[in-house]
Order: sequence, then C-alpha cells, then structure tokens
Amino acid sequence: MSSQSAPLAVICAMPEEKAALRELMTDLETRRFLGRDVTLGRLEDHDVVVAESGIGKVAAAVTATLLSREFGCRGLVVSGVAGGLDPELHIGDTVIAHSLVQHDYGQLQDSGLKSFRPGVPPLGPDRQDIVFSVAPDLVERLQAIAADIDLPDLPAGLLPQSAPKAWRRRRVVMGRVLSGDQFINSDIERRRLHRDFAAHAVEMEGAAVAQAGALLGLPVVVVRCLSDLAGVDSHLDFPRFVAAVAPGAALVLRRIVREL
Ligand code: SAH
Repeated sequence: MSSQSAPLAVICAMPEEKAALRELMTDLETRRFLGRDVTLGRLEDHDVVVAESGIGKVAAAVTATLLSREFGCRGLVVSGVAGGLDPELHIGDTVIAHSLVQHDYGQLQDSGLKSFRPGVPPLGPDRQDIVFSVAPDLVERLQAIAADIDLPDLPAGLLPQSAPKAWRRRRVVMGRVLSGDQFINSDIERRRLHRDFAAHAVEMEGAAVAQAGALLGLPVVVVRCLSDLAGVDSHLDFPRFVAAVAPGAALVLRRIVREL
C-alpha cells in the first residue's frame, strides 16, 4: 500500500467490530461522518480512520468510498466477523481474503442463480469473471502473516457446540470470502455456497468494498473472524460469539498493518 502518510480506511459493519479495533488504537479522535462517529487514530504507528458502516453491501461501499475521498486514504480494509463455510474451519478461526465474490449477484434462472460480475455490461466475456482478486504480491505478504500469527483461546465457557472434540489452536487462513445482502442461516445454502464458489467464509460487505476499491484504484484487505458457521444454528451462534470473536479480526489486522 502506497504513501505511508495517508491513512487506511477501515470499515466495520457493526459496533462490536469497531469497538474491538478501538481497543488496539492510540491517539483517538472522534468525528461525525454520515450520521455516525468515525474514529481517527494510530494502529501500530500507522494512521487509520475507522467507520461503522452499518450492515450490507450498499452501506459498506458508500462508506468506503466517501471515507477514502474525505480522508485521502491509501487503502481500504474491512474488519469484522463472518459465517464459516469451509468444513475445516470453526468459530473463532479467521479468514483473510485472497479473493471475494458477490454471491447474490447474477441472473436468476429455473436452475438457480447464474453469477455474473457486478458493475460490467450484462453481455460479453467480462461478466464471466465474478471474482475480485487481491493483488498477488499482497496475497503473498498476507499469507506469510497468516502462517505466523497465534490468537488467544476463546473463553472456555463460550465453546461452540460445533467445537472439535480435540481442542485445537484457532486458525488464521487465506481464503475466498463471499458477500451478499443475506444473513446465511441454512445448512443447504452453506453447503451450496462452499461448493459453488469454493469459498471459506460468507459475510455481507467485503466484496462490495472490493468492487469500490477496484473503481477507486485502492488495494483492499478483508479480515473476518468466524462468529458462526452459516448453518441452521447461525442465528444462535452469531449473537453469542460476535463480541468474543470480533477482537480476533482486530488482532490479525494489527499484525497486517504492522507488516505492510
Ligand atoms: N442478526 C443481526 C444481523 C447480523 S448480520 C441483526 O438481527 O441485526 C451479520 C453481520 O455479520 C454482517 O455484517 C455480516 O458481514 C456478518 N456475518 C456473520 N455471520 C454471517 C452469516 N452467517 N451470513 C452473513 N453474514 C454474516
């Protein structure tokens, strides 16, 4: 990410996600922006401006765009929680996006949704490329960080029903993150999203910010700690775990910022 003097814009959908980041920041300053408080400050000696966007693709894309213009930001970051899709992953694990897809965008046919690339004309070969990819050199650096970070255990009393029998360390992996204007609360949909998109996690903002970043010519980093597994229990797991796992994303982001 270029020019170290320009701040990074960090977009959090929910207050819990922003609060976790504020805990790790210094030199805090609050300003009003789009009807909410944004926090300016330092994270590991880098200037950041952190906004709570509200939930969903439109809120996130508008916030990211206006924030980047208002504060002259050098990159866009989304930090928060997500539903896990990869059966290897559990609540408390973290996915850093190497690629992002808007899973709810496309043409609705009898056989289901045929995905197209958002933002391009609906004819021609461009529409087949549905993936917003993170630049290979950035992926390489993020991969090295993912391989080398440990997160503290979740509070013992809070272990999910779905926790593996043998306790294991929380994982931090690179993966594909899906975004759509839907909270996924279905085993059938969870399996379909994992299979059709080879995806690791699903949330509601990241790929919209990736599209905004592509238009603005800004790099995008998306960090998501899993609050649930997007299945039939996700509506119970999400409120139970959101505040406990949000700091995981913030800790991984702090490490990323330190090393970028
Ligand atoms: N249940 C809340 C809404 C939460 S939406 C309410 O009633 O107000 C879930 C938020 O966390 C979104 O910002 C999204 O990015 C992320 N998320 C976590 N788990 C998700 C899931 N299973 N499906 C989609 N988004 C999820």
